[in-house]
Amino acid sequence: MILDVINPATEELVTTVEAVTLEQTDAAIARAQAALPAWRAVAPGDRARLLRRFADAIDADLENLARLETTNSGHIAATARWEAGAVRDVVEYFAAAPERLFGRQIPVPGGVDVTFCEPLGVVGVIVPWNYPMLIASWGFAPALAAGNTVLVKPAELTPLTAMRIGELAVRAGIPEHVLQVLPGEGPVVGQRFVTHPAVRKVVFTGSTAVGKQIMAGCAEQVKRVTLELGGKSANIVFADADLERAAATAPYGVFDNAGQDCCARSRILVQRSVFDRFMERLEPAVRGLRVGDPRDAESEMGPLISAAHRAKVASYVPDGAPVAFRGAAPDGPGFWFPPTVLAPSSETDRAVVEEIFGPVVVVLPFDEEADAVRMANDSRYGLSGSIWTSDVGRALRVARGVESGTLSVNSHSSVRYWTPFGGFKQSGLGRELGPDAAAAFTETKNVFIATEE
Ligand code: NAP
Ligand code: MG
Repeated sequence: MILDVINPATEELVTTVEAVTLEQTDAAIARAQAALPAWRAVAPGDRARLLRRFADAIDADLENLARLETTNSGHIAATARWEAGAVRDVVEYFAAAPERLFGRQIPVPGGVDVTFCEPLGVVGVIVPWNYPMLIASWGFAPALAAGNTVLVKPAELTPLTAMRIGELAVRAGIPEHVLQVLPGEGPVVGQRFVTHPAVRKVVFTGSTAVGKQIMAGCAEQVKRVTLELGGKSANIVFADADLERAAATAPYGVFDNAGQDCCARSRILVQRSVFDRFMERLEPAVRGLRVGDPRDAESEMGPLISAAHRAKVASYVPDGAPVAFRGAAPDGPGFWFPPTVLAPSSETDRAVVEEIFGPVVVVLPFDEEADAVRMANDSRYGLSGSIWTSDVGRALRVARGVESGTLSVNSHSSVRYWTPFGGFKQSGLGRELGPDAAAAFTETKNVFIATEE
């Protein structure tokens, strides 16, 4: 089977990629298994050095990777460059892990007790199309650092940057077959990671529906699994907030990457006493958003990933939808959709409840702090969110009250490679990034050594 790689900004065919078959997946898993003993035996300092060289190779290829992502995924140039730099930083950050995977010495009677952090074995990483290289790195970097060998399955629509990173790994001196990138179909390659007994952990990022199947499949072999799934995150704006900043930044909190971001703040909850003032300030910020050619340095938002995805997003804005205001989008080829603000009258509206994964945001009023927390938590998701207030006590109270994995106060930042990232409820299972991520790719082994005669 051949995968067509389409430029979503032009609808032109960029290239074709041969999809990896089931037999080829099994062969790759066997190679990863064969590469394991030598890779886990590499001395910690040497493994660290190889990962730093890998980060350097990514850095040297940064402009090329960014261009590839813009062409394949329609990401605006600034985002694509940030992503490539972030992949480098993630690899560099986890390059410090091999030398710091400490076990413990635990006091026990009759001997010495120590724990070891053993690699799991072969790890399979299944990646979505929204941040193709970055999300791959959140899995492969800590997994490699902990001494595992890794298989990455990029999304069918966006294989190019992950494939390039696989080449850069080999060029940087990471031994062959330690990191393999297998472009192909989810139900073929991805599913084989779930069913093949030699794959000991599956790291999945994608839709909640597929994530549930992956988890159920992994249960069959008690296989380790990490899930990063959907979101419907709330951006809560209190009356005592810096309203100018809250309104000026709200569009970027949801429309970055054309809303194709699991952390998108796609529900804006605004205290009723400032609702109208907030909307007055939000309108020019949304209308002023520059949507256009992602290669253009002026563009702030590009197209959606595919025609099918655009149709799904458009279904949330049918004729008669409660549109408050919209921005602009180019005509002609490309999967464009204008940034759209909805002001629904019901909290059970489909656009309020479901993840849209496009540039559509709903704005709802609330009265008291407790109402804001209740509304934010009225979701099966719990990935991210923002709280805008000048009251420190309230900021902390609400941050502790919202059932979500990653919150920011007076900011829309979500993902920092230094800090843990992941979801509550149906947004996922486990955490990626941060100081503990490499440990999640190890098993704890306890060894007791008798000292008594
Ligand atoms: P998806 O359909 O679930 O696909 C994600 C990945 O899983 C793709 O590589 C896909 O391959 C593969 N896949 C599909 N069916 C599979 C199966 N039966 N077994 C194994 N692998 C399978 O999701 P998507 O449409 O690409 O991405 C959008 C969704 O991902 C959104 O819901 C979004 O919220 C979520 N997401 C979450 C995060 C997070 O960190 N929480 C980050 C990004 C995206 P194909 O390409 O061949 O379909
Ligand atoms: Mg899919």
